[in-house]
Amino acid sequence: MPELPEVEVTRISLADRLNDARVLSARLGKPLRWPLGIAPESLAGRRAGLLQRRGKYLWLPLRGGVAPGDGPVAAGPDDAGGLLLHLGMSGSLNLADAPGPAGAHDHFELATSRGVLRLTDPRRFGAVVWSPGLQADPAARLLAKLGAEPFDAALTPLAFHAALHGRRTTVKAALLAGDIVVGAGNIYVSEALHRAAIDPRTRCNQLSRPRCERLLAALRLTLARAIELGGTTLRDFRDAHGMSGAFQNEAQVYGREGDTCSRCGGTIRRIVQAQRSTYFCGGCQRR
Ligand SMILES: [Zn+2]
Repeated sequence: MPELPEVEVTRISLADRLNDARVLSARLGKPLRWPLGIAPESLAGRRAGLLQRRGKYLWLPLRGGVAPGDGPVAAGPDDAGGLLLHLGMSGSLNLADAPGPAGAHDHFELATSRGVLRLTDPRRFGAVVWSPGLQADPAARLLAKLGAEPFDAALTPLAFHAALHGRRTTVKAALLAGDIVVGAGNIYVSEALHRAAIDPRTRCNQLSRPRCERLLAALRLTLARAIELGGTTLRDFRDAHGMSGAFQNEAQVYGREGDTCSRCGGTIRRIVQAQRSTYFCGGCQRR
């Protein structure tokens, strides 16, 4: 499943090329998670702004546009509107000059002056939704419950500790929930907890402030490294250049049950928490 690093890698690979592109047409395939919410033909003539990311959502501002029978609609900051995109369980976005005919799993296509942006999503849990703005519904509603961005300076160690301290769940569950900090999916939580030497079964309210500080730093390092390496290739994630990520080669615990811990020589274990696999070292990760 694409996690924050994969979505960020996608954003980085597309943002410059899509910026200022003019929309020529849009095409829908089979239904995605939610309906588009606007007639695809009404996207023609709009101009793309800078692609942004919030959590695992991408936001493509599309300014202006042509109202039927009228002249061009004046483009201003208030009439931006745009597309909120989510890669779901299996989605990937690709921008190509001549991508060839759409395949069975290509369910959204935006033809632009800079190439064809195509969403390929075999499992169709992904989404492309029109919203009149980021602060307007449906975007505002979909983004409302997201926690802080992991690299946001406002997420201080103090704020992170305060948020965790109010929870009685395990630290792994609290991070996976995404309402304290976004983007910490299963792989990256496992890796960050190993880096911070914290047992994933530890209750949040038992984590001291220094340990929370270490965990936040570990999470940032883990996510930054994953973005730098182009994400993690699980099943068939590809960024918009068709490259696959290399983070899995550096994973210390994830998918390494039975291996030796690089830090303490202990054995990597796998347990199941809330129906998800958790990998950790029984030697150096403490409660
Ligand atoms: Zn260890």
